[in-house]
Amino acid sequence: MGIGLENCVRDPKWTTIGTSRLLSQSIRQKNAGFLPIFTHPSPVCGVISGNMYLLLFILTMALSAYAAWRVRSTYNRYSQMPASSGLTGAQVARRILDLNHISDVEIVSTRGHLTDHYDPSAKRLVLSDENYHGTSVAALGVSAHECGHAIQHQQLYAPLQWRMAAVGITGIASQIVMWVPLIGMFGGALVWKWAIMIMAIGFGVLMLFQLVTLPVEFDATARAKKILAQTGAVSPGPEYDAMSSVLSAAALTYVAAFISSLGYFLYYLMQMMGSNRDD
Ligand SMILES: [Zn+2]
Repeated sequence: MGIGLENCVRDPKWTTIGTSRLLSQSIRQKNAGFLPIFTHPSPVCGVISGNMYLLLFILTMALSAYAAWRVRSTYNRYSQMPASSGLTGAQVARRILDLNHISDVEIVSTRGHLTDHYDPSAKRLVLSDENYHGTSVAALGVSAHECGHAIQHQQLYAPLQWRMAAVGITGIASQIVMWVPLIGMFGGALVWKWAIMIMAIGFGVLMLFQLVTLPVEFDATARAKKILAQTGAVSPGPEYDAMSSVLSAAALTYVAAFISSLGYFLYYLMQMMGSNRDD
């Protein structure tokens, strides 16, 4: 998962919580500067769509900020709560992978705060230093969640396969929604109409990618909770509940990313339908 909160640019092919959030965030940042561009060419409609965009921008920013704050505060609180098993994140990861007969995935540590992720192309489970060496319930939860992705990969879990297959087109779509507003800015009404359509398609692709990411993340968390309880790495009661709330907070960031991409997709879809009606 990488409850990834940091600003490093990550590879979308990784299953990390940070990826989705950063992707949607970068889209919003890129579009924020182009606020007036995609308003309707007629003055009245332009004001309405401009206000709608502003409202959408504020709502998605607020949602994203809330999800980020929630994951950060929950993680910080429970990274102070040691698990009674005394195991480190790396030890738990090794155990889980061994239990699932996964011997070709290497476990490595990396710098940064919540930079944890699983890289399916390299078959590498990357844990941030604090989770790799840490013995907190938060560290074990994050570590087990990443193992959940490795298990999904081994078992050819369908949503993960779809997500991996969609990485290329999603990369293109995120470039498109970044650059097309520039073209729209210098073009006339005809270009504007095409640009709106391309933006709708681009955000449609991003929205579907975020949608497919949801079962991948929820499933990895469900696997993590189950296996941590089964192996006794996390004790029932307060330890389990704390680990559970860290992973739930992390899942919220993906829900926020999906809602944001859905909002932008619907916005451009409505703009597109409005411009067709004008013809
Ligand atoms: Zn994940």
